[in-house]
Amino acid sequence: MPHIIKIKSIENVTHNVKRFRCEKPAGYTFHPGQATEVAINKPGWEEEKRPFTFTALNDSPDLEFTIKIYDDHQGVTNELNSLKPGNELIVDDVWGTIEYKGPGYFIAGGAGITPFIAILRQLKKDNEVAGNKLFFSNKTSRDIILEEELSNILGENAIYVITDEPANNYHTGLINEAFLKTHIDDFSKPFYLCGPTPMVEALKECLTMLGSSPDAVVFEK
Ligand SMILES: Cc1cc2nc3c(=O)[nH]c(=O)nc-3n(C[C@H](O)[C@H](O)[C@H](O)COP(=O)(O)OP(=O)(O)OC[C@H]3O[C@@H](n4cnc5c(N)ncnc54)[C@H](O)[C@@H]3O)c2cc1C
Repeated sequence: MPHIIKIKSIENVTHNVKRFRCEKPAGYTFHPGQATEVAINKPGWEEEKRPFTFTALNDSPDLEFTIKIYDDHQGVTNELNSLKPGNELIVDDVWGTIEYKGPGYFIAGGAGITPFIAILRQLKKDNEVAGNKLFFSNKTSRDIILEEELSNILGENAIYVITDEPANNYHTGLINEAFLKTHIDDFSKPFYLCGPTPMVEALKECLTMLGSSPDAVVFEK
C-alpha cells in the first residue's frame, strides 16, 4: 500500500550520495536489509518507482534512505537530487533483499553497502558484531560511504578496497579469487554480497568455486 511521506532532512554523505530522513508512516515496520519501492510525489514522477533500502533501524522514529545520485541522465535519483526538506516521497510495501543469517562475510560494492549499513547498525545495537567482516570496494576513496561509522562498528574487520586509483591507506585492485583466499579463513560461513552486476556475478562464481553459496543482490548497473 503506498504511503505519502514528507522529507525531514537531506544531508550529503559523499560527493554523490545523500541521506534522506523522512517521516515514517504509522505501523510501518521492516527488518534490517529490507527495501521498498520509492517514487517522488511530484507531477510526472509518481509512477517512477525505484528500489531503495532502509538504512535506519526499525525502531527509529524516521525512515532513512542513503541514495547514490546519478546525475548523468534524467532518472529518479537525479530528480531526488533536486528535492528539499518538505518535499514528499511515496513509499510502498516492504520487501526482502538480504537477510542476516549469522556471523560471516559482507562484500559490498558502492551503494551495495546500504543493506549492510542497516544490518551492521542492528548488530552493533544488539552487541553482536563479533565474527563479522566487511570488504567494501569502491572506485576511489572519495566514494566510500560512511567509512568512519563502519570502521567504528567493525574495527579492523572493515576492509576497504579501491579499484580505480592508487591509494596508500587502502587495499587496491579487484576483489578476486586471490584476494578472497588471502582474507577469508572459513568459506563455510555465510556470505552476503551486494553491488554492481559485474562484481556480483564474478564473485558469486568465485565463491561458489571456493565452496560457499553467497546471498547476493545486484544493485547498480
Ligand atoms: C533491492 C534494491 C535496493 C536498492 N537500494 C538502494 C539504496 O539504498 N541506495 C542506492 O543508492 N541504490 C539502491 N539501489 C539501486 C537503485 O535502485 C538504483 O540506483 C536506482 O533505481 C536508479 O534509478 P534512476 O532512475 O536514477 O536510474 P535509471 O537508470 O533511470 O533507472 C532505469 C530503470 O532501471 C531500473 N533499475 C535501475 N537500477 C536498478 C537496479 N539496480 N535493479 C533493478 N532495477 C534497476 C529502474 O527501476 C528503472 O526502471 C537498490 C537496488 C535494489 C535492486
